[in-house]
Amino acid sequence: MAEILTDKKIIVMGVANKHSIAWGCAQAMAAQGATIIYTYQNERLKRSVSRLVKATDNLVECDVADDNSIQDAFSTIHQRFGTVDGIVHAVAYAKKDELGGSILNASRDGYALAQDISSYSLIAVAKAASQFKLLTNPASIVTLTYFGSERAIPNYNVMGIAKAALEASVRYLARDLGPAGVRVNAISAGAIKTLAVTGIKGHGELLKMSEDRTADGNSVTVEQIGNTCAFLMSDLSTGAVGDIIYVDKGVHLI
Ligand code: NAD
Repeated sequence: MAEILTDKKIIVMGVANKHSIAWGCAQAMAAQGATIIYTYQNERLKRSVSRLVKATDNLVECDVADDNSIQDAFSTIHQRFGTVDGIVHAVAYAKKDELGGSILNASRDGYALAQDISSYSLIAVAKAASQFKLLTNPASIVTLTYFGSERAIPNYNVMGIAKAALEASVRYLARDLGPAGVRVNAISAGAIKTLAVTGIKGHGELLKMSEDRTADGNSVTVEQIGNTCAFLMSDLSTGAVGDIIYVDKGVHLI
């Protein structure tokens, strides 16, 4: 079968380790012929990503909480690779003490931090890509969201609210980047045990509850999410604009 991402260069933000959804996306897209450029949060994460990625030119630091860091990263990518065909934004963060108990305990700072890194960062990244004229036409931006944006999932709290804002950002960005040929979509992924999930109080029960509610009794995998990401990065998906696509084995239905 022909590869659907031949000659495409795609930025993947958010690989922490081999369990990361971003890594599943990168692997699936590389299997479809794409060149992957990885951004990592800081030196500590660089060490971890370097164990998976040997081509050091394809590794660029980018802390999405810092506009200068995003500017530096995209400037470096532009110099090294020219234009790129897509960006996968698989980045989120909330303080551990915000991810448990009642939403009434949410702090102003904790709420703002979760919004900044997990939601605003998508706009910041799209803005910088636009300033650097980094994206081709057509191009694709994909972010990762979760069902906790729509339902009050136990302990997900400020992150659920940040995901709701992220999904709204997808729609506004899709509207404003559409004329430049850039489509923006989100994958609403089922629960998977990653570093980010272990920050949520009672994540074991969350993962079990989620698996029990899949249509076939088996949790979605990062490979399955990655394959949908590959489709969304490919020219096969140019009609999908501003959508939230569930890749959760039907958990949102049941
Ligand atoms: P992960 O811990 O592997 O990845 C999270 C990434 O966010 C890490 O690489 C981390 O370095 C990065 N990050 C955090 N703060 C950052 C910053 N300031 N600058 C740059 N990067 C930063 O976990 P994951 O589950 O693979 O998460 C990826 C995305 O998928 C997140 O948006 C998450 O909310 C979403 N998601 C996860 C699940 C799940 O069950 N694991 C389900 C649905 C959606």
